[in-house]
This record gives sequence, structure tokens and C-alpha cells, in this order.
Amino acid sequence: MTMVAILSGAGISTDSGIPDYRGPDGVWTRDPEAEKLATYEHYMKDPGIRRRAWRVRLEGPVLRAEPNAAHRAIAAFEQTGNPVRVITQNVDGLHQIAGLSERKVLELHGSARSVVCTGCHARSSMSDALDRVRAGEDDPGCLSCGAVLKSATVMFGQRLDPVVLGEAMSIAKATEVFIAVGTSLQVQPAASLAGIAAEHGARLIIVNAQPTPYDAVADELVREPIGTALPKVLGRYA
Ligand code: ZN
Repeated sequence: MTMVAILSGAGISTDSGIPDYRGPDGVWTRDPEAEKLATYEHYMKDPGIRRRAWRVRLEGPVLRAEPNAAHRAIAAFEQTGNPVRVITQNVDGLHQIAGLSERKVLELHGSARSVVCTGCHARSSMSDALDRVRAGEDDPGCLSCGAVLKSATVMFGQRLDPVVLGEAMSIAKATEVFIAVGTSLQVQPAASLAGIAAEHGARLIIVNAQPTPYDAVADELVREPIGTALPKVLGRYA
């Protein structure tokens, strides 16, 4: 059995209808105003930004999206008994919805399927919060303490959870195969995991349509569409 670690980025979810936010055609690249909705400082100080953010959460594609062939291939790989860990830059929860065990997934940038209180840090479900928005609250506050609620994602201006990042580093150092899929490997510290894995002897496979800064240290570059390429790559280690 070969230990396989997968770092997934926005490109794995575009087939599920979720746009890339930071790519050349990304939502934030085309509309810098939209980036404010995901910037902690703006979100906390401006109720207008929060009202827009809640509308986007309500109307956006993330909570309606379904897993695609690539998410399902990873879940099936685990279900046939292969040791696999997924480190994801995505907040859509589609790996778990596809059937991958929760404990196999590290969400570096948090989850859009939960909300967290910025006062008491209580977590609750995003769908409950969105029910309140549908019922007319345009900026729902924490039901326990009244403070501002936000999605449980890492916004610009917030740091990654050091425990989650530390675990991701350990996986990168220990794994035999490291597959970076659908990520431009430009956002640190997530991107550095590919380099750490390669330095510690893993076979580094990059599955991405565009070149990345880590292509030179990769053992293999796959430019094919992810939905067909990833099942094939995983099939070699099953
Ligand atoms: Zn609270």
C-alpha cells in the first residue's frame, strides 16, 4: 500500500460549478470590490459589506454544488482501503459530501458550510444562518452573545489554524506520493507543502492545466482535465 496525500485547490471544484476566486479569470481578480467581502477588517467594520456577504452566501453556488468525478474518485480510493489524506484549500466541503471520511480531510481555509461567532467562537451550521437571512435578517448575529457571525472560513487578514497547518506539514513529510490537483501553488503556505513533500522524498505529481512555480521539482506534470486525469493517476496506486 502506498501512502498518498492530495493537495486540492479551486480547480478540482470548477466542474462542480464553483468558480475559481484567484485564478486569471477568478471572481476576485475580475472584481476587487468582491475581495472586500472576504477581508476580515472590512467585514468586521462595515455592516454593508456583511449584508452583501450574506446575499452572496445565500445566492452563491457553494452550498448547492455537487461533488464531481474527481471528488468521487478520491472517496472511492479511500473506500477500497488505500491510505489517503486530503489537504484542501477549498471551503466547499465537496470531498466529504463525495463520501471521504471527515478525519481524512484537512481544510486549510476552513469551511463555508459552518458559521463561527467572532465574539464567543461558537460554531453552528451555515444553513441555519441562511434560514434566518431568508426570513428577513440581513446581518444575523450570534444567538448566544449577539456578536458578528461569519462563515467559518479563513478570510484575508486572518491566519491559518496552526494546528491544521502543522498536521498538513507532517503529512507532506511522511507521504510517499503527493498529488497537487487543481491548485496554482501560488498561495502560501499551502503551496510550500508541495516543496516539503518533494524534499522529503515523495513522488510529486502536479495535475493542473496551468504551469505552477513547483513544476521544476515535480516528478510528473499532468495537463489533462482533472475529471479524467485524477482517477487514472489514483488507479496506479490502488
Ligand atoms: Zn457568540
